[in-house]
Formats: sequence, C-alpha cells, structure tokens
Amino acid sequence: MVNMHLSTNDGSQNSSPQSDATAQQNDADCPMQNLSREEVTKYLRRSGLRPTRQRIALSDLLFGQGGRHITAEALLEEAVQAKVPVSMATIYNTLHHFTQAGLLREVAVDGAKTYFDTNTSNHHHFYHEDTGHIYDIETNDMEVIGIPTPPADQEIWRIDVIVRLKDK
Ligand SMILES: [Zn+2]
Repeated sequence: MVNMHLSTNDGSQNSSPQSDATAQQNDADCPMQNLSREEVTKYLRRSGLRPTRQRIALSDLLFGQGGRHITAEALLEEAVQAKVPVSMATIYNTLHHFTQAGLLREVAVDGAKTYFDTNTSNHHHFYHEDTGHIYDIETNDMEVIGIPTPPADQEIWRIDVIVRLKDK
C-alpha cells in the first residue's frame, strides 16, 4: 500500500448534493480554509478550549466550504438552517474564541460591521460599500510601502488594508 494522498478529489467524503449553488462562491484559490474537524479540535485544545458539540457544529459551517468572510448574523442564520441550536451570544463567543485560537481573522470594515475571515494569512480586502461584499485581494496585486515608524515601545503587528469599492 502506498500511503500517499495527493489533494485530488478522491471522493473519500461523499458530500451532499450541491451542484448549482457553488458557482458564485469563487474564493477557491485561497489555500487554507478547509479545516478538518481534527484540525479544528487541535487548534481549540491548544488554546485551552474544549471542542464542544456546538463549537464543532459551528466549525463545520465555517470551515467546510472554502474561504469565506462571514458576519455573526449570517452565521446565526446558517446555524438556524442547519438546525444547530445556538443563541446569538454563543455565536459571538464562539467567533471570538475561534479568532483567539487562530482559526479566524477579524476584519473590521467599520465601527458596526465585522467579518470573520477563514483565511488567516496576511492579506488585504476589497469591500463594496453598497453591497457589503468583501473579498480577498490577491497577495501579488498589492504592496504596502512607506510603513510608518511605530512608537519606540511598540511594534507593528499587522497591516491590513481595505480597498473600498463603489459601482461606477
Ligand atoms: Zn479575507
């Protein structure tokens, strides 16, 4: 037996029928979002969080469908549809715990609107002001130059840019 799993679709997991709705979500080029339950569990334990059934159910929704940027409200809606019994408070707590555990990255678009990003690598975003659609800017398409000097006792932790769009 050759123990080699290349990342071809070997049909090891028969996903439920979903042919039509997939075309619009085209974030497939983001490499690292499809986390398995084992990986999620590992991350959670490393951060001292128990992999409760609720957390695992929410992680299935978050990480089971490629790269995405999701608000707490949208996740609640998905949870309701998937019959995962959760409250808004649980959703918030879970999203923040996952962020602390390094599973998600928070993208604050403005004071009121926060997206949780399953792509935790350093990257920037396009954001459409009217539709609220947010998506990744290809890393090669943007470069930040002229970085300011931080205060002496501090260091730059991260730079994330939101490029805001409007229809012409
Ligand atoms: Zn992103």
